[in-house]
Amino acid sequence: AQPQPQKKETGTGAAEIRHIIAVASGKGGVGKSTTAVNLALALKSLGLAVGMMDADVFGPSQPRMMGISGRPASDDGKTLEPMENFGVKSMSMGFLVAEDQPVVWRGPMVMGALQQMLNDVNWGPLDVLVVDMPPGTGDAQLSMSQNVPLAGAVIVSTPQDIALLDARKGLNMFKKVDVPVLGLIENMSYFLCPKCGEQSDIFGHGGARDEAERIGADFLGEIPLHMDIRTTSDGGNPIVVSDPESAHAKAYMAIAEKV
Ligand code: ADP
Repeated sequence: AQPQPQKKETGTGAAEIRHIIAVASGKGGVGKSTTAVNLALALKSLGLAVGMMDADVFGPSQPRMMGISGRPASDDGKTLEPMENFGVKSMSMGFLVAEDQPVVWRGPMVMGALQQMLNDVNWGPLDVLVVDMPPGTGDAQLSMSQNVPLAGAVIVSTPQDIALLDARKGLNMFKKVDVPVLGLIENMSYFLCPKCGEQSDIFGHGGARDEAERIGADFLGEIPLHMDIRTTSDGGNPIVVSDPESAHAKAYMAIAEKV
């Protein structure tokens, strides 16, 4: 990660964080959280002090993907200790509500929760905080990008037109609020048959690379649709840590080096 100037002052919890990077997508289900978690773990493997904040308040997936359960401790009744696994600190709404309970909140409460996750968590010194953003370009996304001193945003998209269209909206939102777009990642870029290794372009292929070129953003890399990526992250043992020598882990590492 290249040093980036931070735009705004932050509260105490975030005071010692050097760079905050948002991982965003225009729509849900494109693999934003999977990418965010593997990217955070890859940044950790590069020797950085890394934290992850799950801003996907309505669909928190970090506890499961990071293999963390339990509740965060609070020594002073005001601030929370982040949870930790694989050497990466983590905070998510998912640690505070039961897994099968919905968060039924209006916008201002969501914003309050996000601010607290940033400022009232004892993150300690971090090189990078990876923020797993909620999908889309609603209230929470806009306020996050305006109120949080983001060093930049990474956009995750699948290759097909419809996902790219939404990704473009996300990208324009960050542009409007002067958050640098660090680049695009194409997830589910192609399907690799686990039996025969043949490649099928289920959602098309290369759309995100073309889009990045079109808008003058960096293309950070492509990740195939592969069973091992799903099973490892569903199992709380993401591929970057469970199989660091695999081609997939190396692809995430290569992306981390560019971010
Ligand atoms: P989002 O955060 O965009 O909603 P998720 O990261 O939760 O998406 O991914 C949705 C589902 O797709 C999860 O079950 C995840 O394991 C799976 N998935 C994501 N990326 C891949 C991939 N490259 N290969 C296989 N499965 C994937």
